Amino acid sequence: MMSLMRPDLQMDESFYKVEEIRMLTGNAFSVRLPKARFAFKAGQHISLGIVGGNQSREYSIYSGENDEHLEVLVKEVENGYFTPQLRKLKAGRMVEVHGPFGKFGMEPEAAKTGKFVFIASGTGIAPFRSIVRTYPGIDYQLIHGVRYAEEAYDSQEYDSNRYVLCTSRENKAAYYGRLTGYLKTCTFAPETHFDLCGNSNMIFDALEILREKGFDRDQIHCEVYF
Ligand SMILES: Cc1cc2nc3c(=O)[nH]c(=O)nc-3n(C[C@H](O)[C@H](O)[C@H](O)COP(=O)(O)OP(=O)(O)OC[C@H]3O[C@@H](n4cnc5c(N)ncnc54)[C@H](O)[C@@H]3O)c2cc1C
Repeated sequence: MMSLMRPDLQMDESFYKVEEIRMLTGNAFSVRLPKARFAFKAGQHISLGIVGGNQSREYSIYSGENDEHLEVLVKEVENGYFTPQLRKLKAGRMVEVHGPFGKFGMEPEAAKTGKFVFIASGTGIAPFRSIVRTYPGIDYQLIHGVRYAEEAYDSQEYDSNRYVLCTSRENKAAYYGRLTGYLKTCTFAPETHFDLCGNSNMIFDALEILREKGFDRDQIHCEVYF
């Protein structure tokens, strides 16, 4: 009898075969999986584990809702438990995916009419790539804070008039300094929605700056990684 099981999904629907580990810098990479029937809203995250391992971690989905792959963007944390194992995975290894989870993200109606400022530190750019790929006509500005210019992950995909890179450790970007320094210099329309994603220090500082600029807390949404 012919098997109905897809070759890229085995045993359990939450098991996915790694298609590719795509290195973006010396320590940042994307993990590409088959999309299969996995449905999510741009901005949401998954829980990812290695089959045979005993731990999992959360990752924002980096691919768009209609892309043929399910992809996450990961930075290898020095002395971290999970990310060094993930980086060493070879194509063909099985991972376990649960989700999608979270309320961070974009509603289709809002994407048509809203004005958005996306503020990301490091791999916190992941949900915004997913949103921009899903809603190519969206009115956004993306402010991305990293240490070095090479961490501008896949930045060629964004409209260069909408993407601002801030580098804190070298003068090789539109703004030399922390993204919070750049944010202080900006003026935004009163109806702007702000979405913030990344490490908690950046998010707390950015929240304070936006409050000082007079924006209400309900115009601001946050996703904290660590
Ligand atoms: C909702 C959510 C979404 C997330 N999405 C992403 C994502 O898209 N990409 C991503 O790379 N991470 C993301 N993370 C962080 C991720 O879940 C792990 O914490 C991270 O990959 C470290 O795992 P680890 O086992 O290697 O480190 P651990 O051994 O668990 O932790 C070691 C230390 O590293 C710190 N740490 C965690 N992440 C980083 C980082 N990026 N840079 C520096 N220090 C860090 C932690 O505070 C901890 O103290 C997300 C977290 C949450 C809660």
